[in-house]
Amino acid sequence: MTNSPHEPSRPRNEHPGGWADDVFEHISSTANDTVKLLRSLEHKKERRETGLFLAEGARHAEEALANGWSPAYAFASQAALERPQTKDLLVRMKQAGARVLTGTEKILVTLSRKDNPQAVISAFRQRVTPLVDLPASGARRFVALYEVRDPGNLGTVIRTADAAGCDGVILLGTTCDPFSVESVRATMGSLFAIPLATASFDEYRQWCSDNGVRIVAASMHGDHAHDKATYPERSSILMGNEQAGLPADVEGACDELVRIPMMGKADSLNLATAASVMIYEAWRARGYPGANR
Ligand code: SAM
Repeated sequence: MTNSPHEPSRPRNEHPGGWADDVFEHISSTANDTVKLLRSLEHKKERRETGLFLAEGARHAEEALANGWSPAYAFASQAALERPQTKDLLVRMKQAGARVLTGTEKILVTLSRKDNPQAVISAFRQRVTPLVDLPASGARRFVALYEVRDPGNLGTVIRTADAAGCDGVILLGTTCDPFSVESVRATMGSLFAIPLATASFDEYRQWCSDNGVRIVAASMHGDHAHDKATYPERSSILMGNEQAGLPADVEGACDELVRIPMMGKADSLNLATAASVMIYEAWRARGYPGANR
């Protein structure tokens, strides 16, 4: 490229926006070690060992950056780089510390295992908030899930909790991995916007009583309807496992057990559906504070 006499001279390949064409690493083979690493993140073992997880698409990457998550890698096809927004995103990913790679569409398909992959695939560092660091003064609403097993349910609950302005999602006991591809996908970006904590039930129970958080559990054994419950300034909804619900001793340690009315032949509601009803009732009961749309 030749600079016109009226333009200040700038190095070859550098654009007025401040980025250069060669700031990204170009790779040409699916056998590349980083491609292998990114591919391996679909497995829980590798996610646990590396502390990383995959985020598909520019929207998830934008959401993660906006909320201060730390990116480790980003991959985009060279075709996607033609879009200024994608290029700008990748530059910001790099500035935030990511190794940014570009390559063929074939590599993107390999990484995403889809014929129509998203333009950008990134790997972020996992972030779990210690229970004691959840904000617990003033008006707060939490959602706790006891031994949730289905990543689609988990991701959906995280998304609903975010939409209803909850202050955190707490995973109790042995649960599915919130950083699995399926769970992250189901959160639609909300994973990056709401704190996620893990704890045993006993730790959770103690933390709730230390902080004046009332536990309202949704259960088939509830003896009154969910909309008759008391949702004080600080409350936590507790939902049971998809198959077994809540153990008796856990139910016995909650402040209130409620049931969502049903008719028809269904034995129970799907966990994520029941959680949505509960989350919205707890918010409605307080007058939808903070609702902005
Ligand atoms: N067989 C399980 C049981 O008896 O609890 C059903 C579990 S259900 C699929 C998963 C969770 O969703 C339950 O533990 C409960 O927290 C919630 N849930 C589903 N339907 C509900 C209802 N009608 N009332 C209250 N909670 C409900």
